[in-house]
Amino acid sequence: MRLPIDPDSVKGFLAPQEGARLYELAKSAARLGPCLEVGSYCGKSTVYLGSACCEADQLLFAIDHHRGSEEHQLGEEYHDPDLFDADALKMDSFREFRRTLDRAGLADHVVPIVATSALAARHWNTPLSLVFIDGGHSEAAACADYRSWAPKIMIGGYLAIHDIFEKPEDGGQAPYNIYQLALASGLFEELTTTHTLGVLRRLG
Ligand code: MG
Repeated sequence: MRLPIDPDSVKGFLAPQEGARLYELAKSAARLGPCLEVGSYCGKSTVYLGSACCEADQLLFAIDHHRGSEEHQLGEEYHDPDLFDADALKMDSFREFRRTLDRAGLADHVVPIVATSALAARHWNTPLSLVFIDGGHSEAAACADYRSWAPKIMIGGYLAIHDIFEKPEDGGQAPYNIYQLALASGLFEELTTTHTLGVLRRLG
């Protein structure tokens, strides 16, 4: 794996082994069609996925409203004052995301979509070879991400979900719940999990 910049220089919450797995998945998927991520934040996962897409001359769609998830808001546990737009009085991770894309030279292979996941999905007709869900952790947000994008995954394509915790004492359950939903649908087979990154493959 050769990355254009050190992913540790990008703010975010993705472990290096999870990033490496995303890169490998995208490398194999990109031969079939474009990839898509939900919850780009400052672009850490984008560097891994986008680099693999770039090598295959493929595209990565990177969706984020860039107003932060629940836990990023002012006064919350993961609030980062550097990402607060004091004029709008809102979180804004887009400037930092764009800086990451420029630093990594990925602007020709990553298409940023600044919108909620459900809005972006409304007229979406392009089959996807990989969908990575790393958006909001409320039940409603995780469910909307799953229902919006899982049907767009092509046969043989991957669904990767971040922050999978089997036990409630280890972390929020919403990502794990959509992982279970995907399995229960009978449309996906379970592949090996990497740390908290759950990986499924769309069956034919
Ligand atoms: Mg995450």
